[in-house]
Amino acid sequence: MTDGPRELSHDLPRTPADEATLEARRGKLKVATISLCGCWGCNLSTLDLDERLLPLLDRVTIDRSSFTDIKRITGRCDVGLVEGGVANEENIETLRHFREHCDVLVSVGACANWGGVPSLRNSIGLGECLATAFLDSPTAVPGDRPTIPLHPEIPQLTDRVYPCHEVVHMDYFLPGCPPSNDAVFAVLDAVAHGRPIELPTSLTHFD
Ligand code: SF4
Repeated sequence: MTDGPRELSHDLPRTPADEATLEARRGKLKVATISLCGCWGCNLSTLDLDERLLPLLDRVTIDRSSFTDIKRITGRCDVGLVEGGVANEENIETLRHFREHCDVLVSVGACANWGGVPSLRNSIGLGECLATAFLDSPTAVPGDRPTIPLHPEIPQLTDRVYPCHEVVHMDYFLPGCPPSNDAVFAVLDAVAHGRPIELPTSLTHFD
């Protein structure tokens, strides 16, 4: 059994493998990704780039991301791709961390841009939403006394689901649920080649 993936932290002694990884990353643009309150579908659009990812990786390295399993941003990043809206205190902290460490933040997909499907709870109210899910659930066992889960390690839900730009400044917005892989590629390719990010209407309209 291996120890599993390790973060490249400045606090840990580096192994030869860490040094090799750091050497390969030197000089490349750093991209970080995060999924807040979303379904990971926008991230799948990035994976859907398939073989187009390979030449990009000559110029771009992926820092904190569920693709790399690096849990915290390891240093200054050029671009952060944010999927999902803000639905709990942990999402707020993570999004602020991204804003602090990324030069450019891209709001990726409907959930990040305006709350998306999770924001349907905004029209109900948090109290009623929790009661429906936990107290009055049709799947509750008769005779049980259901409670709303409460634990210090469970992030506290925000009163509503917020789009990312209502929490921190976002630089670009990529619409869609999810955005197409072509739209994600347009962003990453522009970043990799030092061009301004420009998204033609064909990639941002779904009529
Ligand atoms: Fe999933 Fe759509 Fe939200 Fe992306 S925008 S996280 S695909 S629900």
